[in-house]
Amino acid sequence: MKTTSKCSGRLFVISASSGTGKTTLARELLREDKNLVQSVSYTTRHPRPDEKNGQDYFFVTKKEFLKKIKKNGFLEWANVFGRTYGTPKKEVEDHLRQGRDVLLLIDVQGAKKVKKTKPDAVFIFLAPPSKEELLRRLYKRGTETQKEISVRYKVATKELKELNELALCDYRIINRQIPVATEALRGIIRAERMKI
Ligand code: 5GP
Repeated sequence: MKTTSKCSGRLFVISASSGTGKTTLARELLREDKNLVQSVSYTTRHPRPDEKNGQDYFFVTKKEFLKKIKKNGFLEWANVFGRTYGTPKKEVEDHLRQGRDVLLLIDVQGAKKVKKTKPDAVFIFLAPPSKEELLRRLYKRGTETQKEISVRYKVATKELKELNELALCDYRIINRQIPVATEALRGIIRAERMKI
């Protein structure tokens, strides 16, 4: 009997609105799973106090971002809350070619774009337990102004509605408690790796 193994990695796209807890969730998985890497996005927004360039994001100017768009350097990019965010194409494709699984933590617009170019990717929608809880988490994080929180909340409620109607995602995880949601994500990744 011939056993074959997939030599290229899998692309996991986690889309969630701001404040849903995707960064916390991914951090735990990336720490324990050495074959899983996170794609580091480019953004024109300013770093938060605890964020590091090259680790959380590549923080670039608008000019640098535009240059990368012109060179076709993004797998997808989108305007989110007045700033631009993009997934670097070459880095993701290099990881996949080398057999690593790649995690993208992007917004809903970005996920829709990836669905067109990489339909085989695994799309996971991380949802907050309720709109009230989402708002509470945005306030608790304390990294945005009142005005920014209102915008993020408004966009999130629109995205939630849209995602519930679209057949975009393969899986939906409701993030009530981080350990439970992490276990669900772990299970999805494990199952996808066993797919023939
Ligand atoms: P934040 O500013 O809170 O880090 O991110 C704001 C939103 O932008 C989040 O929903 C996050 O998932 C999304 N985001 C981060 N990187 C990318 C990216 O490369 N592409 C897209 N489309 N969205 C991104």
